[in-house]
Amino acid sequence: MVIDLEPVFNCPGKYVDIDYTIDLTSEEYGGAFPFAEPVKVKGRIQNECSVVELCAGVVFPFVAACDRCASSVSRQFDFEFRHILAPSLENEDSDDIICIDVKNFNLDELITDDIFLSLPSKFLCKDDCKGVCAGCGADLNREECRCKKEVDPRLAVLQQLLDN
Ligand SMILES: [Zn+2]
Ligand SMILES: [Zn+2]
Repeated sequence: MVIDLEPVFNCPGKYVDIDYTIDLTSEEYGGAFPFAEPVKVKGRIQNECSVVELCAGVVFPFVAACDRCASSVSRQFDFEFRHILAPSLENEDSDDIICIDVKNFNLDELITDDIFLSLPSKFLCKDDCKGVCAGCGADLNREECRCKKEVDPRLAVLQQLLDN
């Protein structure tokens, strides 16, 4: 969505409400397409005493493979974003202020960047996911590791000698 924010910038007190969806279903993340449904975006861009602020909340289901056990997990994410917007002419680049093209403000771009920056670097099915054993491939959440039981045949012979 591209918005003309000139009326907002020119008039203290003025605001625009945002209530729409962004389709990120074709966005790749971690080699998959985890944005199963369009992202719901709700918020407001308001000029308060000549400072234009964007407040937006997003809600979306995220479907991805657990980083440890690779099982498919679906989770509902919601994030809130706040930014001070300034005309790009002022060129005040900082972490707090986002310089924009006031007449053609690309909200999708900003929100999409925000979402990607907010996603967790590790995605786990549960905090204490035990993962998959590198030796036997057992899903340690559901089954026991088989490594210990499968004794190497050569070691078994040795074990027998020791037992005798
Ligand atoms: Zn897991
Ligand atoms: Zn194992």
